[in-house]
Amino acid sequence: MTLLPNSLQARDVAYHFHPYTNARRHERVGPMIIERGEGIHVYDDQGRQYIEAMAGLWSVGVGFGEKRLVEAATRQMSRLPYYHTFTHKANEPAILLAEKLVQMSPDGLDHVFFTNSGSEANDTVVKLVWYYNNGRGRPEKKKFIARQGGYHGITIAAASLTGLPTNQRGFDLPLPFVRHVTCPHHYRNALPGETEEAFADRLAAELEAAILEEGPETVAAFIGEPLMGAGGVLPPPRTYWEKVQAVCRRHDVLVVADEVINGFGRLGTLFACEHYGIRPDLMVVSKQITSSYQPLAAVLFSDAVYQGLADHTEALGNFGHGFTGSGHPVATAVALENLTIIEERGLVANAARSGARLQERLAPFADHPLVGEVRGVGLIAAVELVADKASKRKFDPPGRTAFHLFERAQEHGLIVRAIQDTIAFCPPMIITEDEVDEVVSRFAQALEDTRAWVA
Ligand code: PLP
Repeated sequence: MTLLPNSLQARDVAYHFHPYTNARRHERVGPMIIERGEGIHVYDDQGRQYIEAMAGLWSVGVGFGEKRLVEAATRQMSRLPYYHTFTHKANEPAILLAEKLVQMSPDGLDHVFFTNSGSEANDTVVKLVWYYNNGRGRPEKKKFIARQGGYHGITIAAASLTGLPTNQRGFDLPLPFVRHVTCPHHYRNALPGETEEAFADRLAAELEAAILEEGPETVAAFIGEPLMGAGGVLPPPRTYWEKVQAVCRRHDVLVVADEVINGFGRLGTLFACEHYGIRPDLMVVSKQITSSYQPLAAVLFSDAVYQGLADHTEALGNFGHGFTGSGHPVATAVALENLTIIEERGLVANAARSGARLQERLAPFADHPLVGEVRGVGLIAAVELVADKASKRKFDPPGRTAFHLFERAQEHGLIVRAIQDTIAFCPPMIITEDEVDEVVSRFAQALEDTRAWVA
C-alpha cells in the first residue's frame, strides 16, 4: 500500500510508535484509522462499518457513543477536572466509587487503591504484598506464583507475572520473583483420557509441589485471571479454583484474582469470582469499570491486608506509592455513571442471555475441519484453529492462519482478535441476540474463506 504524502496514515507511520505492532510491517501497511463508534459498531476513515466483536480491548461494555458517559465526564471536567489523592486529599467521585466497588465486589474485599491501568494495578499488587509482608516481619515471603498463558499487563512486575513469551522475549523478563505453573487449559494440557477434575487435581498438586519446593515461607501470593483472556480465552477445568485456593490457604499464600477482563458482567455474573467460587484476598479490576472511556483500574483488598498495610504506613510514616492519576475525579465519575448504566440496563443479565446465544451458535463449529476447540463463558468466547483435528497439531508457522481469518473477517465488517491460531470474541455487553447471530454469520464467512485459502 502506498501512503499518500502528508496523509494521516503517513504521519502516523512517521511519528507514532505503536504498542503490540510490528513496526516494519506498519511502515508497509499503515494504520487502520477508526473515526467514530456507535453502539456495537465502529467506523473507519473510509466510512466502513464494523461490528466491534472485541469491544475494543475487551473493554467497551456499554458500547460506543454512550452520551451519559460523555455528560458525566463533562460535568466533572467543569467542576473539578483534576485533583490528586496524595497526603489525605480526596474528591467526591473517588470516594463514592471506592464505596461502590466494595459494595459490589465479592465478600471480604473492603478497601480500594486506584491506578490508571491494569498493569499499574498489578504492579501495585506486588508492591502491596511485599510491603504487607515486610510490615508483618516476614521479609522473605515475596515470591509470586502465576500461570503460563496468564496475562497481567506489561509494566516490569506485571509483565513478569504474565506468562506469555511475547511480553518477555526481548525485554529481559520475567524477573525472578515469579514462578509460572502449568496453564489450566484442558484441551492442550490434559493427559490423554484425563477428566477435567483429574486435570484440576494434577494442577493443584503441581502448585503445592511448587510452593513446597520454593519453601512456603518464601511464597507470598498466587495470581490468576479467573478465566484467562489474552492467553486465548481459557476457562479453567471444573473444580480448578476450589482446589488451588485450598492449596493457597494451607500455605498462607494470598489469592489474587485478576478480573481486568472478567469483571463487571463479562461472564454473565458481576464478577467471575462468583462464577468460580473464588474468595480472593486481593482483586484487580479495570477495562469495563469505565467501559474504557477513561483510563482507570483498581486494586481491592481484604481488611486483613489493609490492617497490615496501615500498620506499616504508621511504622514508616508514609505509604510511598501512588500515581498522579490515582483516584482521578473524571475517570472515577465516568466509572460511577458507567456502573449505574450497567445496573439500570441489566447488562449483566444481558451478557448472560446474549452470551448463552454466542456459546450456542459457536458450539457447532467444533465439527468444522479447521477447528480444534470452541470455548468460552457468557460473552467471551474463542475458536481455536488447528492444522490437524485428530492430533490437535498446530499450524506452522503459528498465527498465520488465524491472522488470515482475522483479515477476512474485517472484510466482512467484523472485528475479532487473533491470538496465535485462536479467534477471540468479546463483544460489548449491550449486544442483542440477533446481533450475536450476525457476528457468528460473518465469522462463518471468514472461516469458509480461510478454509479455501488453507486448502
Ligand atoms: N490484566 C488482565 C487480565 C488484562 O487482560 C490486562 C489487559 O488486557 C491487564 C491486566 C493490563 O491492563 P492494561 O492494558 O490496562 O495495563
